[in-house]
Amino acid sequence: MLPTVLRSSRFPVYSKPIVTLFLPICRRFYSLSAVYTPVTPQMDAADASEETLRGVLAEKQASVDAQAGVVRKLKAEAAAKADIEAAVESLKALKIEVSAVAKRLQAVVSSSGGGSGDREAFRQVVVNTLERRLFYIPSFKIYRGVAGLYDYGPPGCAVKSNVLSLWRQHFVLEENMLEVDCPCVTPEIVLKASGHVDKFTDLMVKDEKTGSCYRADHLLKDFCKEKVEKDSTLPSVKVAELKHILAVLDDLSAEELGAKLKEYGITAPDTKNPLSDPYPFNLMFQTSIGPSGLSPGYMRPETAQGIFVNFKDLYYYNGYRLPFAAAQIGQAFRNEISPRQGLLRVREFTLAEIEHFVDPEDKSHPKFVDVADLEFLMFPRELQMAGESAKLMDLGEAVRKGTINNETLGYFIGRVYLFLTRLGIDKERLRFRQHLPNEMAHYAADCWDAEIECSYGWIECVGIADRSAYDLRAHTDKSGVSLVAHETYPEPREVEKLVITPSRKELGLAFKGNQKMVVEALEALNQAEALEIKAALESKGEIEFGVCTLGKSVIIKKNMVSISMEKKKEHQRVFTPSVIEPSFGIGRIIYCLFEHSFYTRPSKSDDEQLNVFRFPPLVAPIKCTVFPLIKSQQFDEVAKIIARSLRSAGISHIIDITGTSIGKRYARTDEIGVPFAITVDSTSSVTIRERDSKEQIRVSIDEVASVVKEVADGQSTWADIMWRFPTHSASHVDD
Ligand code: AMP
Repeated sequence: MLPTVLRSSRFPVYSKPIVTLFLPICRRFYSLSAVYTPVTPQMDAADASEETLRGVLAEKQASVDAQAGVVRKLKAEAAAKADIEAAVESLKALKIEVSAVAKRLQAVVSSSGGGSGDREAFRQVVVNTLERRLFYIPSFKIYRGVAGLYDYGPPGCAVKSNVLSLWRQHFVLEENMLEVDCPCVTPEIVLKASGHVDKFTDLMVKDEKTGSCYRADHLLKDFCKEKVEKDSTLPSVKVAELKHILAVLDDLSAEELGAKLKEYGITAPDTKNPLSDPYPFNLMFQTSIGPSGLSPGYMRPETAQGIFVNFKDLYYYNGYRLPFAAAQIGQAFRNEISPRQGLLRVREFTLAEIEHFVDPEDKSHPKFVDVADLEFLMFPRELQMAGESAKLMDLGEAVRKGTINNETLGYFIGRVYLFLTRLGIDKERLRFRQHLPNEMAHYAADCWDAEIECSYGWIECVGIADRSAYDLRAHTDKSGVSLVAHETYPEPREVEKLVITPSRKELGLAFKGNQKMVVEALEALNQAEALEIKAALESKGEIEFGVCTLGKSVIIKKNMVSISMEKKKEHQRVFTPSVIEPSFGIGRIIYCLFEHSFYTRPSKSDDEQLNVFRFPPLVAPIKCTVFPLIKSQQFDEVAKIIARSLRSAGISHIIDITGTSIGKRYARTDEIGVPFAITVDSTSSVTIRERDSKEQIRVSIDEVASVVKEVADGQSTWADIMWRFPTHSASHVDD
């Protein structure tokens, strides 16, 4: 979720005037005129770009209009019948050309949108399967549900718990992170310090008659997208204008958004009623702590603040050593204005966040070498601004060249890539997109989002940001508790320090009641300002000095202040650590994983399509099933013995002794992604079937639990196991 003001980086973003971003788009647009192809009916749609086709269409439409004028004129002048007929024939021919180009344009637009119809159909099948098999359920369904709230059902819970335990193993364990668990209810002062109380807002509009609420930017976005994708008669200039709006949508102020909604005549989608002007709506759920109502609080919109406020204790716990990272998994709450896109935009969700504290003067990472050779899709801001696509890039090189700001940020980008692909996210549909300067908070050094492509487009699932020292400083200022780190020098260091000593006696005599303000202003001088004043006092004996708390300038004389650079011995450096924050939206990752894992295959009789989730064993909700091949007391007994051994090995399983055909039982469990099926067809050995290849091996009853554990825990692959055990040639076949 990217709130209008905070976006993914949570804090006020300095807003660039819209015109600065218009330039590259204008440039791209004007350069088109140079590549316009002449109007030729033979033009090959396969070679023509959307812009080219729009240009051709506009020119042809102009020819149609002109020819229609000719026909009207001839008729008005009662010209010869043959002349009128010839003109009408030309008009018809031109109209045929227009409709041919319009059709080609429509084809190009829908293919560049990735076939939005196909995507929606695919999503429908996945979502139906997920809801039917209780991966997730709209919350409070019997009361008609609440938008943006979902329950995970049994297989969904199991997948989520597997994803989180892999997360703990991959990050917390691997980096010795300090895990904490803080309350969701947070006192106002904490979120005031962080900026959320004042700035965590989205711009909202209301239906003026019904009061229904909408996100203003979403309405404008939908309008522009729909026009660009579906209106083939739109002239190129208009298309460029709408695409430009899409590019700068996040930057529009309330006034600019309101003006655009009015200009395009956008009304409430459900009723077509007029809309109010946009105004900021704070996304936090407010509450009060305790019965008095005097202590305001909020449900936390992220888990990070719990870590920042504990920095001092965690630094102590870590033996006063930097760098170190703290981690937290927990619920976050955002009162989204109009949640849509299923699990992707919800009002309560699980976040897994890491705050890695590092010396701002040394952002190297000792384990960067472990990830430096990774190559994956990156989308640096230069490529985005040039209108190009993401490219395969080498992580080590991206850090060396400075594309990624520092090694620690690069290290986490690499680790996030490994985590997501290990989960089963398709690496072809995963990219790391750098924030554009206008998306980043002013204090942030660099930010990248792990975006995963699904049927809704590219979705931000993990934000990885170098937030500099902003958060710890904000809490230091508000709480008065110094959240800093120390570096003790092996040997004391001699440093030159600026010393400003105002003479209170002289200043008191000169300024009386204003003396305090003048002293404070002098003491607040930085080194450059102080040295400038010192030079002026030495050469001229006095200087005019502006005191903003007095709202005027005063004359400072040489005897009123002494300014000098003095050598001092320092034993340590005190500094506020920088924070590098990877923030994982667990629900979004899981939903994308569902889509990336889903496929269908024909049944044996080829009369229906069977659904399969190809979850890696580590993530699969249930690791295996146990099926007696036929209904028999002996086989049922063996199945129960195997189930007992799986239980004691800690392997989740389903035992199905219903006697339904084996093919049907396979299909039922393929649909929830169970990777292995144990079929009991004798009293001494059984077969194990792998879900995707449908290959089967024969294993003795004593060994079966340990073999399944080995592959389910990821210690061996199915291919390894296939080498060790005989394949079962007379396979129990699918239906
Ligand atoms: P942010 O603090 O806005 O950068 O959000 C951190 C992560 O939380 C994002 O990368 C998303 O994966 C996830 N997220 C944010 N808002 C929502 C939401 N409304 N529903 C589900 N996930 C969200």
